[in-house]
Amino acid sequence: MVAVPTETVYGLAARADSAEAVLKIFRAKGRPANDPLIVHIADIGELDGVASEVPPGAKALAEAFWPGPLTLVLPKRPRIPPETTSGLETVAVRMPSHPVARAVIRAAGLPLAAPSANPFGRTSPTRSAHLDPGMMAQVDGYVEGGDCSVGVESTIVGFFGGRPVLLRPGGLALEEIEAVVGPVELPRKESAKIVAPGQMPSHYAPLTPMRLATDEFEDGPDVARLVFGRSVSGPCAGWRDLSPAGDPAEAARNLYRMMRELDALGARLIVADVLPDAGLGRAVNDRLRRASAR
Ligand code: AMP
Ligand code: MG
Repeated sequence: MVAVPTETVYGLAARADSAEAVLKIFRAKGRPANDPLIVHIADIGELDGVASEVPPGAKALAEAFWPGPLTLVLPKRPRIPPETTSGLETVAVRMPSHPVARAVIRAAGLPLAAPSANPFGRTSPTRSAHLDPGMMAQVDGYVEGGDCSVGVESTIVGFFGGRPVLLRPGGLALEEIEAVVGPVELPRKESAKIVAPGQMPSHYAPLTPMRLATDEFEDGPDVARLVFGRSVSGPCAGWRDLSPAGDPAEAARNLYRMMRELDALGARLIVADVLPDAGLGRAVNDRLRRASAR
């Protein structure tokens, strides 16, 4: 079990075909057993060894966007044990673009399960220096890969009756996906628990309480600000601009590092701007919303 860089965030990787190995991941992260892992492959040819069925839409997406920050949920092969998928008959698969991630998968010679390398519910690491020491004490090591170029987790698309459903916004924009497969369904609230288990309302959280700028909050000099495309004047505990140019992809890249930097200020509250709900803004807003969920 080693921490490895990917273009999204650092992952905690172990062989996906071994119940014993994936249970080590759940233990090191303190991750609940009902939150399934993503299986990582190094080559598109390995997809058939993990998924038993690949609908045409999924194939088109894999061909268009792999390697990259897109995860597909498909029916699983028996080779993938129930521990990896939390007992589901489907498996989440992704081919990362980070050359180091793919080199590690190739060296292992089999698919690797790799959730984000952070204690469950906390902020994901986008550089090796952000790996949690307590978690790393239970891990065999890490591979250095520099800063993550995307900075938020992958976009997850499931296929139900052949039709694409967005299970989690992420590092690949919904607009790009729809350009290939047409309209993608957003899961309805009632069915969300079944099709997207592990999508916890509270997640990615810093230790300092966080609120959205659109929430009600008590302002003051002890409040830190995470803003988008603007500066902050007036007294505050400190602030970071996710993207001075107002670019949501840059905001995604900076998000977790800046959340950590603001968390270290000892502020009473971190208040975050909400981005326009388009492109990678959707993924950034999703993470901000969950990081500020009480
Ligand atoms: P991460 O924690 O970033 O590795 O992402 C894993 C997430 O992928 C889980 O929390 C689930 O929401 C989702 N996921 C993994 N496997 C499945 C599956 N078989 N069906 C639906 N969602 C899944
Ligand atoms: Mg995670």
